[in-house]
Amino acid sequence: MTYTPAPRDPKQPPVRINLLSDTQTRPTPAMREAIARAEVGDEQIGDDPTVNVLCERVAELLGKQAAVFMPSGTMCNVAATLVHCRPGDEILAHETAHIIAREGGAHAALGGFQITPLSGTDGKFTPDTFRAALHPRTRYQPPQTVVSVEQTANIGGGTIWKKADLDAIVQIAKSNGLATHMDGARLLNACVATGVSASDMADGWDSAWLDFSKGLGAPIGAVIAGSREFIDEIWRWKQRLGGSMRQAGICAAACVYALDHHVDRLADDHANARALARGLSQISGMDVQQPETNLVFFNPDGAGVTGDKMVDALRQRGVLLAMMDGRIRACTHLDVTADMIEETVGLVREIVRGV
Ligand SMILES: *Cc1c(COP(=O)(O)O)cnc(C)c1O
Repeated sequence: MTYTPAPRDPKQPPVRINLLSDTQTRPTPAMREAIARAEVGDEQIGDDPTVNVLCERVAELLGKQAAVFMPSGTMCNVAATLVHCRPGDEILAHETAHIIAREGGAHAALGGFQITPLSGTDGKFTPDTFRAALHPRTRYQPPQTVVSVEQTANIGGGTIWKKADLDAIVQIAKSNGLATHMDGARLLNACVATGVSASDMADGWDSAWLDFSKGLGAPIGAVIAGSREFIDEIWRWKQRLGGSMRQAGICAAACVYALDHHVDRLADDHANARALARGLSQISGMDVQQPETNLVFFNPDGAGVTGDKMVDALRQRGVLLAMMDGRIRACTHLDVTADMIEETVGLVREIVRGV
């Protein structure tokens, strides 16, 4: 059980351009200084001042009463459903959702929950699709307890849920007694791209979280927010899952630094993603999904090269990316420059020409 595109494969040339994921960012020297200066305490007993500052800031940013620091986004999703649901309950999410496809079956393994996959283009389902999936509360059917959305939708292409659709989903959920959960791994990308504030995006969502180890460029951490009562319950699951930490201010300091310095610059990642998509689109036969944020999905089949061959050929030239659900995903981030994008387009062109 391996993960194949290992960045440090000794049989391959070193990676010069890393488009594998926005998780690949390294803390900047200034972020490392913030880490070194961090005031710390025992997070598990609520005594780490830097963690407390981070949680207050994210609660405010998302317009919620309280927030808690978690080791990962996956733990945010898992703890959230563990709070919202009981064994046998049904969660509704898009069929490509991280909670279905990429969390090792955690929601079934740990909670005994089933997730109903909803269809829809670009990683999003419509309010109508959601409404049609709801069923009456009978003793035969699983209780439908939570609806979950990803902002942005990862496998959908880094696509953005429109505020109006989010509101419509919330309205339907509330009138049918469902809780609402927002997987905000890349929520701030959506906010920077649209100008809609994070608190507006998360308005009406009972739980919402941000990942700091993606485009925000911190090494570790995510923060989940909600009502005070919800966060109390999250703390219980954080403890149960072994996610309560000690001098976690070391990590939180990088997250606070990211909030101060790495949010507005997400616009640069989006510009680089658009430039990459533009360059790739100019190659005859290339099928490119126009990016809304920092993820670019493309399929080179029509240009005469399979996705796997393209990934291998780029890797041999020092560019790392990977196939994701049948297409190639390229991800722009803090450590990707406009020059690297230009070079990548040139290399793809060269590989296509060599066929
Ligand atoms: C990365 C990701 C997660 C999980 O976050 P980790 O910090 O890697 O555990 C959850 N949802 C989405 C949409 C993601 O992209």
